[in-house]
Amino acid sequence: MLTLLDVLTTGEPDAPALLSPDMSPLPFARLREHVVELAERLAAFGVARGERVAIALGNGPAMALSFLAAATCATAAPLNPKYRQDEFAFSFADTRATTLIVPPEGMAAARAAASPAMTVVTASIRSDGALDLALERGARAAQPWTPPQPDDVALILHTSGTTSRPKRVPLRQRNLVASARNIVAAYRLTPDDRALCVMPLFHIHGIVATLLAPLASGGSVVLPPGFDAMRFWGWLTAFRPTWFSAVPTMHQMLLARAERQLAAIRAAPLRFIRSSSAPLPPVVLEHLEAAFQAPAIESYGMTEASHQMTTNPLPPLPHYAGSVGYGFGVEVTILDDHGVELPRGERGEVAVRGPNVFDGYENNPEATAAAFTNGWFRTGDQGRIDEQGYLWLTGRLKELINRGGEKISPLEIDDVLLRHPAVAEAVAFAAPHRTLGEEVYAAVVLRSEATERELREHCAAFLADFKVPRVIHILSEIPRGATGKVQRLAMAKLLGLTDDSSGSAQ
Ligand code: ATP
Ligand code: MG
Repeated sequence: MLTLLDVLTTGEPDAPALLSPDMSPLPFARLREHVVELAERLAAFGVARGERVAIALGNGPAMALSFLAAATCATAAPLNPKYRQDEFAFSFADTRATTLIVPPEGMAAARAAASPAMTVVTASIRSDGALDLALERGARAAQPWTPPQPDDVALILHTSGTTSRPKRVPLRQRNLVASARNIVAAYRLTPDDRALCVMPLFHIHGIVATLLAPLASGGSVVLPPGFDAMRFWGWLTAFRPTWFSAVPTMHQMLLARAERQLAAIRAAPLRFIRSSSAPLPPVVLEHLEAAFQAPAIESYGMTEASHQMTTNPLPPLPHYAGSVGYGFGVEVTILDDHGVELPRGERGEVAVRGPNVFDGYENNPEATAAAFTNGWFRTGDQGRIDEQGYLWLTGRLKELINRGGEKISPLEIDDVLLRHPAVAEAVAFAAPHRTLGEEVYAAVVLRSEATERELREHCAAFLADFKVPRVIHILSEIPRGATGKVQRLAMAKLLGLTDDSSGSAQ
């Protein structure tokens, strides 16, 4: 029972599995059968197991079913549909995609990037919840379809590229199923649960936490056309989900509107709200709980671990702002620089192992060798485990600010800045400095007026002098990567800060 097809048989036959504003619900009885039909159809177009099927579709039931079909026939390679032609061309070549799934209309950049040798298939959802897959060009000899095996690579994704060039991560059927089941166990998801899927389905968080985990519990998934802070409230009342998962930026965008949406929140109460993929500032967690009157649960995930590694538990067990909880089905430890396990309470590199963890980057033996020590996968994140077993992340090793040898966690500074009433968003980062090596800088987006001086004084009230940002840039927007993550390491460059400018500033 270790392939995605097994996940699709968990629910009661008549229970809805997939829901969306544009179609009647697709029940579990039909879901598995339909995914097999779609996988057979791809095989009839010439797609063989082991091939990569690129998918360029926006969120929604067509994307979800295309992903399940591609992963059941071969290896799914979902891509950001907002890519430009060059980015598509790079991804197709990098993942060696033989086939591309696109909507019948639009997505010109993806079509233009597909080489003449590639098979192009269109996907469109019907009002009864079934998917039409049609051959657009590039028919090949039909292949036989056989059910996938646990060791088959179901999905290939790139890491987000926050700290270096994105790396290719192959994830096997068994990795994805293990991760989905860990999430089911962690939140005790049941057939009565219904997730609202607002995370992009080309990212591991969206695929595993918001599509596979709800299905693996026999519950249902609502698939609107992607995150939208205005339309979100209508989806809440129309579909009455019991939970949703998002990144902190999305939570902040929802909070900016929550006060005007109290009626929707009251009409459609949530069992819990989940946050993952980037640090959730404690003050945002507090505001989420106050606005939604539901526990806000922070979880820690990464592509290489098929998403979730740790999570806070649901009440009555305690969840703590600033902690990412503990492993469910995943072992977690802290290693020193030499790969030796550290005692509780000591700070070092977070390492994990479990059936959800991948077994190596594709075509990158150096990165793979550097990432594994004695069977532990090193996450590149720094943290410590407290007496209760809860993990507290203190930042990415590569993002720590090294100010003349003093290592400073930028997360602590972000949180202090966010506690100032005028600050809507905050990012502390390292800027190059002639004598110190690195100096602490920050960038903020304001919601009301404040001067840089006021903000620095506010920081000085909570932080030791050496941690107070020397310069705070007031911006209209914080630059982010495709999945909404702050590019902390690129901030200095994006703002044009060189050795000289930071050395002589103020
Ligand atoms: P790259 O590996 O290419 O630099 P990336 O690490 O951002 O990119 P992902 O796999 O999408 O790519 O993200 C995993 C990382 O996200 C984790 O290693 C961690 O740094 C961060 N992260 C995830 N969840 C949390 C969380 N709750 N709190 C803090 N950081 C988190
Ligand atoms: Mg990473």
